[in-house]
Amino acid sequence: MNKASTFIWLSIIFIFLLPTSAGRFFIDMAGGIIFIIFLASILISGVTWLSWRKIKANIKSCGNCGANYFSESTLCPICGSNQKLDKDSSDFNIPASSATIDISAEETD
Ligand SMILES: [Zn+2]
Repeated sequence: MNKASTFIWLSIIFIFLLPTSAGRFFIDMAGGIIFIIFLASILISGVTWLSWRKIKANIKSCGNCGANYFSESTLCPICGSNQKLDKDSSDFNIPASSATIDISAEETD
């Protein structure tokens, strides 16, 4: 039996079952399955989004070699240099006062 004839037989069975309680049961079941698939897709997308957020939070960019790596440790697996957190490296940043460009307001009238 090929796929086309299987489909035809299923449609014939479905048409005969449709007015009966068995047909209603199948329709209810199909509706339930669609509802479950719908809920599952929402759940899966939610879990995927949360895990992606967690993965993104754990992805670190090496300041020494520029490699992106997924690790809980602060050591870069590519070059082995110690990666400090952003808040720790703020001591080495240029002070904001010297970095900002002074914009002098000019009266243009
Ligand atoms: Zn590195």
